Amino acid sequence: TDEPVAGSKRVLLAAPRGYCAGVDRAVIAVEKAIEQYGAPVYVRKQIVHNIHVVTELEKRGAIFVDEVEEVPPGSHIVFSAHGVSPAVVQGAADRGLAAIDATCPLVTKVHREAVRFSKQDYRILLIGHAGHEEVEGTMGHAPERTILIGSPEEADTVEVPDADELIWLSQTTLSVDETMETVRRLRERFPHLQDPPSDDICYATQNRQVAIKKVAPECDLVIVVGSANSSNSVRLVEVALEYGARAAYRVDYASEIRQEWLDGVATVGVTSGASVPEVLVQQVLADLSDAGYGEVEEITTAEEDLLFSLPKELRVDKSGKR
Ligand code: SF4
Repeated sequence: TDEPVAGSKRVLLAAPRGYCAGVDRAVIAVEKAIEQYGAPVYVRKQIVHNIHVVTELEKRGAIFVDEVEEVPPGSHIVFSAHGVSPAVVQGAADRGLAAIDATCPLVTKVHREAVRFSKQDYRILLIGHAGHEEVEGTMGHAPERTILIGSPEEADTVEVPDADELIWLSQTTLSVDETMETVRRLRERFPHLQDPPSDDICYATQNRQVAIKKVAPECDLVIVVGSANSSNSVRLVEVALEYGARAAYRVDYASEIRQEWLDGVATVGVTSGASVPEVLVQQVLADLSDAGYGEVEEITTAEEDLLFSLPKELRVDKSGKR
């Protein structure tokens, strides 16, 4: 049998993992808004793409809606970390809503690039996934000038009007390797394509991918904690497989780990997406420990200490007044 020898079972825990600065800020923003204005506080779309976080905030008095049209006039509404298009901001204002913008500053940075380059008559090739909220928000900042590229394959076929200055931008939570492949293929066809002024794939996405790349080659199994609609979590599963994990699965909760995943497994890698609270990882580690994987080694590839200040409506001044 290929059952590992007793004592050889272990967990390699990737770090960094879990909450990034933008998610931390967005979740606290909803909590503070409820504290400050009283429940209910409306939130457009999931504040961050994690089912546990959303459920917990609902218990505290958040109401999640898809569009501002669903919100009673005069209410407070929080825009999610993924950002919104100017049309959504306008829609909220027209409805008399008090908006609190929890867009991650690193998404806002991409919005600003889109506006700036579209004003300079660039055509923007936005690398990202169709239908993702962040992509909708970014495209909404330069709708006439942006073309979405969903994959390396699409780079081979996309039609771009001639004569234009061309620049690529991207969603913040993509696979770094796949994005570089898309850019390489685009540049083969459009040699004058310019790079963004700085990385659009954010530090948190990059750091979590670097960490899992280090861990994956040693793993028979990688478990990524994160929700199905979390782009960066889903990318971690793909990256783990590309870098040599024999199997990799995504779970929302420890209870989803199937017994058969552990058959013959000696080393389990564990990581979590940028929207995942550490408590969910700890539950996975506890269950793995019960299954004989009590030895845990943390593999750290970067230290993170970035913090973003809260949206201005929610900052407390030094005297303790809001
Ligand atoms: Fe911001 Fe990156 Fe976190 Fe998204 S994953 S909220 S862009 S820091």
